[in-house]
Amino acid sequence: MLDRVVVVGAGVVGLSIARVLSALEGLEVVVVEKEADVGWGASKANTGIIHSGYDDDPVKYPNRARLAVKGNRLWTTWAEQLSIPVDWCGSLVLARSLEDRRVLRKLLARGIRNGVPALRILDGEEVRALEPMVSEDVVEALWSPTAGVLSPYEATVALAENCVENGVKILTETLVKGVRVKGGSVEGVETSRGFIGARWVVNAAGLYADEIARMAGVSDYTITPRRGEYLVFDKDAGPKPSRILFPSPTPVSKGVVVETTVAGNLMIGPNAVDLPRDAKEETYTTKEGLAYVWREASKLVKKLPGKREVIRVFSGLRPQPSGGDFIVRVLEEPEGFVEAAGMRSPGLAAAPAVALEILRLMRLNGLDHGFKKRWKAERRAGLRIMGLGWDMLEKTVPRNPSYGRVVCWCEGVTEGEVVDAIRRGAKTIDGVKFRTRAGMGRCQGAFCRLRIAAILARELGKPIWSITVKGTGSELGVGDVKSLLEGEDVAD
Ligand SMILES: Cc1cc2nc3c(=O)[nH]c(=O)nc-3n(C[C@H](O)[C@H](O)[C@H](O)COP(=O)(O)OP(=O)(O)OC[C@H]3O[C@@H](n4cnc5c(N)ncnc54)[C@H](O)[C@@H]3O)c2cc1C
Repeated sequence: MLDRVVVVGAGVVGLSIARVLSALEGLEVVVVEKEADVGWGASKANTGIIHSGYDDDPVKYPNRARLAVKGNRLWTTWAEQLSIPVDWCGSLVLARSLEDRRVLRKLLARGIRNGVPALRILDGEEVRALEPMVSEDVVEALWSPTAGVLSPYEATVALAENCVENGVKILTETLVKGVRVKGGSVEGVETSRGFIGARWVVNAAGLYADEIARMAGVSDYTITPRRGEYLVFDKDAGPKPSRILFPSPTPVSKGVVVETTVAGNLMIGPNAVDLPRDAKEETYTTKEGLAYVWREASKLVKKLPGKREVIRVFSGLRPQPSGGDFIVRVLEEPEGFVEAAGMRSPGLAAAPAVALEILRLMRLNGLDHGFKKRWKAERRAGLRIMGLGWDMLEKTVPRNPSYGRVVCWCEGVTEGEVVDAIRRGAKTIDGVKFRTRAGMGRCQGAFCRLRIAAILARELGKPIWSITVKGTGSELGVGDVKSLLEGEDVAD
């Protein structure tokens, strides 16, 4: 039997699993992803919080409760190994009423039970001493110092790069259409690019995990999308909190958060709106949703910046499992079918722990490969020109002048960084954006998009009109036009 594992889905969970499995000798790991790049499902559009793990009831949702706390701890090592910037800023759950104060005490007790360290309840004055922007209505807060914020798309790209360095094959624009099962065991997956044989199939398909499961004859759960909408402010807009500000949670969601992203933008969101099961691509934002986010965030702080400081709105879809808890298991029937499904929040925080749990379960079910002697835990991030001191710039730019040519003025991204991103795997304008931040600033790509397309065209040896925003179907054009005559260099 072929010793190959196919992981369906290149989100933070699938790639964490692939990373862990890539440490095994003699096991070929193939990740199959329908999108043109990694991390474009739930892993791209979320709050980016590495939760400390007090939220989840260990009786109702044992996997969520256990794996979030363990994942939080693991991220401290993983982020360092993978050069993922994390702000371990801690979080405050704010109470504005007697009922909220009761909720804080429940969370404190639950957190202690889940093994979250250093939780403490602060009074209103202590909270405002830490975060002067917090509303005068806030009477208490649960302080959790082990929570952190990272950029979820940077994390996913970092995982993918580390996987590839360790021999994992990542096949993008490859849709899984079927799981082949014979005699009660999986044999591989049917994809839009043909059949891939495998002894193990790991279902980490996010919103579509229930459909992949059905392809393997497993039908004991469903996944529905739960939309969350956000508003992102310009970097200059403030005041910005130093810690993550949560409201008291509801049974449905952790509530609308006020936070400063690792890139330094004030961000508010998300709401939580349950959508029909077939609405798995409905990632648009709504007027009502954004108004709700604004209203709820306004309750936590004294003042939000003006609405004209908002540079972007977006939404993400949580893969909400019918049973509520993460589905982390190796099935007896069909043999070789493994699931990391139902990864709603805190799936990002839990991802490294989910990956180790999957390895443990696979070992219990017959995976008997030893560890490689040489496995690369570290991944080096690309050079970021913004933030380099003059002395470093004076050394870097003469060696490679493309690092002196700014392409995205809002975020200070240079041609050298864009080229590096393309050489590391970006094939689309969004691929460059999520690796470099080019196009994420105030102008949202109005000025740099064409320059980036031109660099992509040059590096990939393609006509500029065939460059896509996010894969097949989102091409910039249909053919040459007068203003884009062949040979004309729009990048200059
Ligand atoms: C609004 C929102 C806020 C959140 N906030 C947080 C937070 O702050 N902290 C936290 O810990 N978690 C948070 N989460 C949860 C977190 O984002 C998810 O748990 C996590 O990203 C799930 O990762 P995944 O890899 O399982 O899924 P995904 O990232 O969705 O990856 C699944 C992949 O499978 C691919 N795929 C699907 N079907 C197929 C197919 N047939 N063939 C090939 N590929 C396929 C998809 O294209 C996708 O890339 C939030 C989620 C949302 C939406």
